[in-house]
Amino acid sequence: LWITLEGGDGSGKSTQAALLEEWLAGRGLSVLRTREPGGSDVGVAIREIVLHHRGDIDPRAEALLYAADRAHHVATVVRPALARGEVVVQDRYLDSSVAYQGAGRVLDAAEVRSLSLWATRDALPDLTILLDLDETAARGRLDRSRTRYDRLEAEKSDFHARVRAAFLDLARAEPERFLVVDATSSVDEIASAIRDRVTAALER
Ligand code: C5P
Repeated sequence: LWITLEGGDGSGKSTQAALLEEWLAGRGLSVLRTREPGGSDVGVAIREIVLHHRGDIDPRAEALLYAADRAHHVATVVRPALARGEVVVQDRYLDSSVAYQGAGRVLDAAEVRSLSLWATRDALPDLTILLDLDETAARGRLDRSRTRYDRLEAEKSDFHARVRAAFLDLARAEPERFLVVDATSSVDEIASAIRDRVTAALER
C-alpha cells in the first residue's frame, strides 16, 4: 500500500505522516516513511539545490530537478519497499509538482504531470491525503517558524492561493485516490479521518 500526503507548507503533513507510521507499525505492518524532495541519496543533493540555491531557478529546470528526484526515489526506494510488502507513507509526490511547478510556477499542469509519470514509469499511489489549509491559517502557523515564514513571505500570496486551488482541483479529478481533510481540524481528528480511510484501503 502506497500512501502520499500533500498540502501547502504548514499544513501538518509531517505530523500526520509520523502518526500514521506509528499507527500502522502498531498494527504489525512494516512501514517505510519517506519524502520528496530528498527521499534518496541523490534526492538529498537535489533537495539542497531546489530549496537552498541562491537566486532563481528557471521554472523548467526546477520542474526537471523535482522530476529527477522523483525518478530516483521511486526506482530505488519506493518500488523496492512496495515489492517487499511494506506500506509506504510518503510526504509529497507528483501532485506537489502539478501544484507548485504547474499552478505555482505557471507551467502547463498536464505537461508537469506527464513529466512525472515518465520519470516514474507511471507510478501512482493507492491513496493520497490532501491536508487543505487556507492562506490565512497557513500564514498564522508559519509565523511560529521563522525560516519557513520567510519562505512564505518571499513568494507572492497569490502563489499559495494558486497552489491550494490546484491541489483541490486534483482531488476533485480523482476522488477515489484522494482524501481531502480540513487541516484546521485538531491533530487527533485529522489522524482519525486518515486512519478510517487507510483501514478501508488495507481491507480492499
Ligand atoms: O514539505 P517540504 O517542507 O519538504 O517542502 C519543501 C518546499 O518545497 C515546499 O515549501 C514547497 O514550496 C517546495 N516544493 C515545490 N515543489 C515540489 C515539492 C516541494 O516547490 N514538487
